Amino acid sequence: MTAITHHIPEPLLAAYAAGTLPKPFALVIAAHVSMCDTCRAALSAHEHMGGAVLEEMTAAPVEAEVKEALMAMLDLAEPIDETPLAKRSGVYPGPVMEALKGRPPRWKKLGMGVKQCILDAGDAGSVRLLYIPPGQAVPDHTHGGLELTLVLQGSFSDETGSFGVGDLEVANEDLEHTPVADDGPACICLAATDAPLKFNAFVPRLLQPIFRI
Ligand SMILES: [Zn+2]
Repeated sequence: MTAITHHIPEPLLAAYAAGTLPKPFALVIAAHVSMCDTCRAALSAHEHMGGAVLEEMTAAPVEAEVKEALMAMLDLAEPIDETPLAKRSGVYPGPVMEALKGRPPRWKKLGMGVKQCILDAGDAGSVRLLYIPPGQAVPDHTHGGLELTLVLQGSFSDETGSFGVGDLEVANEDLEHTPVADDGPACICLAATDAPLKFNAFVPRLLQPIFRI
């Protein structure tokens, strides 16, 4: 396996550590973390710093109501379970196998040899596995907001660079890209997108630095 060169941007990792990421994105982050020592270490640092960061945030002059809402949201955040119940199987990391309920993906054909397997779809967005034959472009995929793509097998390239196994691409609506699977084994990706305006209010602020890329 070649070294991972595209990691989780800091604000996304912070949102994940705080438990405020919508489920589809959290799955992609969990899958990357399970494949990447660098991000696993960064996440662990975040979790230890969590309290300090929060104190700093609440020390800033915020209106009482905002503060209250923020604290309530963090209280509601589900704790991160870093030990997935399912084990890695083939190219599929533990968190993906958990979403697959331990079974192999049930692929649906999209045409041109491209297949997908939807793992979760709801108000907070959707997350799916994509199978793209070598040399094939990812079919038209409009994304209204944030899109995370994690490579599980093979590789793809687009206008922003090349992405191999373990690499995470973060794209937003400003990025018009045409990912094409490279030669070699078929490219299998885990991809999450959000439904427009379905983020809770806290997440977009955390993600602002990404939108500015
Ligand atoms: Zn990483």
